[in-house]
Amino acid sequence: MNRKVNGLHEKLHDLYEEVAKRNAGETEFHQSVYEVLNSLGPVVEKHPEYVDSEVIRRLCEPERQIIFRVPWVDDRGTVQINRGFRVEFNSALGPFKGGLRFHPSVYLGIVKFLGFEQIFKNSLTGMPIGGGKGGADFDPKGRSDSEIMRFCQSFMTELYRHLGEYTDVPAGDAGVGTREIGYLFGQYKRITNRYESGTLTGKGLTWGGSQVRTEATGYGTVFFVNEILKANNDTFEGKRAVVSGSGNVAIYAIEKIQELGGTVVACSDSSGYVVDEKGIDLDVLKEIKEVRRGRIADYVEMRGGTAEFVADRNVWDVPCEIAIPCATQNEINGDEALALIENGCRVVAEGANMPCSPTALKHFANAGVTFAPGKAANAGGVATSALEMQQNASRDSWTFVETEQRLEQIMRRIHNRCLVTAEEYGQPGNYVAGANIAGFIRVADAMLALGLV
Ligand code: NDP
Repeated sequence: MNRKVNGLHEKLHDLYEEVAKRNAGETEFHQSVYEVLNSLGPVVEKHPEYVDSEVIRRLCEPERQIIFRVPWVDDRGTVQINRGFRVEFNSALGPFKGGLRFHPSVYLGIVKFLGFEQIFKNSLTGMPIGGGKGGADFDPKGRSDSEIMRFCQSFMTELYRHLGEYTDVPAGDAGVGTREIGYLFGQYKRITNRYESGTLTGKGLTWGGSQVRTEATGYGTVFFVNEILKANNDTFEGKRAVVSGSGNVAIYAIEKIQELGGTVVACSDSSGYVVDEKGIDLDVLKEIKEVRRGRIADYVEMRGGTAEFVADRNVWDVPCEIAIPCATQNEINGDEALALIENGCRVVAEGANMPCSPTALKHFANAGVTFAPGKAANAGGVATSALEMQQNASRDSWTFVETEQRLEQIMRRIHNRCLVTAEEYGQPGNYVAGANIAGFIRVADAMLALGLV
């Protein structure tokens, strides 16, 4: 029996301490590293070569970290300065791949946590993509279209030199959608004088984008939950769900749940949440969020009837059987997890990256709630980005139906890979262990095969 120190296998504990010390203050990064190492005990027992070759230590250090100034002029003529980031974490399986996030909370620790997660997520898809992530501490809220454009152009004026279809291929994340990718791609094209579609994903359909990319993360998460339900001889039919957020991932998670017969009774933004017992009206939600770029509170007036807006309280207080957090990291802590359990929630799947804290995970495990980690559940976004790269490389474009079928198949494969791996390593039904171990082994083996990289 191996010895555990602070919950980690003894061979991994010192490494974790080293990562925490070396990356002081980057708490989200520490959390994501701990979570992966926590699953690797049985792997290092069986395969000591991963420790002996220092492959795990190498994995915890990004290949390259770029931090840059982003100067731009706002509509009043004032010069604004933001900080841009790109962390190129691991390219053993393919070019660095992962989104860009524009949000005031962005700092190196958040970009590194997202980049670290992305390595294993991308590996789990089985596709040829490495892991990276980027963004800026820019707040797009309330900014005019021209301000967004000028910011994106300045951001790309530095970043372009690090990108390329064989080097690093960003996509969107929170605060970065098709509009921003358009401005970023336009600037890249202008500087390089090359129409390199494969350099950015999440492009518009008329200029190199893929069908289903907009829907992919939300749809993929729901396909994953559907696999969990199927494995338990169950379906979405008649189930109550709560989805947090009302951005890209949330909207398309809601759409797919409704298509599969479930009812989403609540969703949120950072100002509060709406409860609509009849089920969220997607046309109204899309009008507010995609067209007007407005606030969730507007839903009540536009929808009429009995819908209710609740400010400053927790969407996880609303009773549901299925919870899909799609807003931000650590949005479900101990209290929120206990409220979900108390109200009869049976399945939690992460549409967002790391929305559930370690305490929440412990509560779910103790209560027998099935938990699907973001690395597996929300991998449909990046997988469809890889499909976009594939279409760009072959100058082809597939139909919506064909692309959606491929996405569903990929999610089914990821689900099965998690279950088979969890079983193989003595933790049947544990999706966290399955995702971390399966994601780790593929990338670690590639690193070993490539030598000291
Ligand atoms: P968006 O910016 O489109 O939407 C984010 C939503 O979450 C907004 O409604 C936002 O509200 C809300 N939100 C943010 N912070 C909070 C908070 N503290 N409390 C309540 N609501 C909050 O982002 P995405 O939908 O693209 O991304 C959401 C999550 O999914 C992120 O964790 C991202 O990393 C992850 N993800 C995204 C992928 C993608 O393809 N887009 C792929 C894989 C994962 P407000 O507008 O008020 O800020």
